[in-house]
Amino acid sequence: MMSNNKIESAASHVALPALPYADNALTPVISANTIGFHYGKHHKGYVDNLNKLVAGTEFADLPLEKIITETAGKADKTAIFNNAAQTWNHTFYWRSLRPKGGSEPPAVLKQKIEASFGTLDACKKELATAAMAQFGSGWAWLVLDGNKLKVVKTANAEVPMTTGMKPLLTIDVWEHAYYLDYQNRRADYVNAVLDKLIHWDFAAENLG
Ligand code: MN
Repeated sequence: MMSNNKIESAASHVALPALPYADNALTPVISANTIGFHYGKHHKGYVDNLNKLVAGTEFADLPLEKIITETAGKADKTAIFNNAAQTWNHTFYWRSLRPKGGSEPPAVLKQKIEASFGTLDACKKELATAAMAQFGSGWAWLVLDGNKLKVVKTANAEVPMTTGMKPLLTIDVWEHAYYLDYQNRRADYVNAVLDKLIHWDFAAENLG
């Protein structure tokens, strides 16, 4: 009985954070149906898998970020890394979007965008290009690298933190993020997200 309780508490170490809005709040760009699967099945699945994988291991009581950095690049820890990073990435993705997003970034971020890309449009174009150029599953990111903003893409579960960059926002370009709503039209999904949902205030907060 005691040991069961112990396993249970270790197994629920990492929690699935609540969505920051209702499941239909991002329509018509992202449907409640997509959110239902993406958050309710995919994101939840990563959290559940992670908890199963770390139960009873040296990672069981570590914060999520620490699990990611401790397992990154270690061939025998790939499953833990993938599920931990995907847990983190999805929480960050939901927060990178908001209903009635898009529009103008706050001044502090806009200045940095203009210093790094010239214009906001050039920054958005670079994000869209990275999102389109990611072959297969992955993520497009706006990051702070030193004092400069950059756009990078990562494959599968990879995260920019493991290479010293600070993520400001992300767009999920795994097919499960858009296929129910856009089928193969990834560009339409990415451009609609950038124009109508991207949460520039969240990105500005992450400048720190
Ligand atoms: Mn996803």
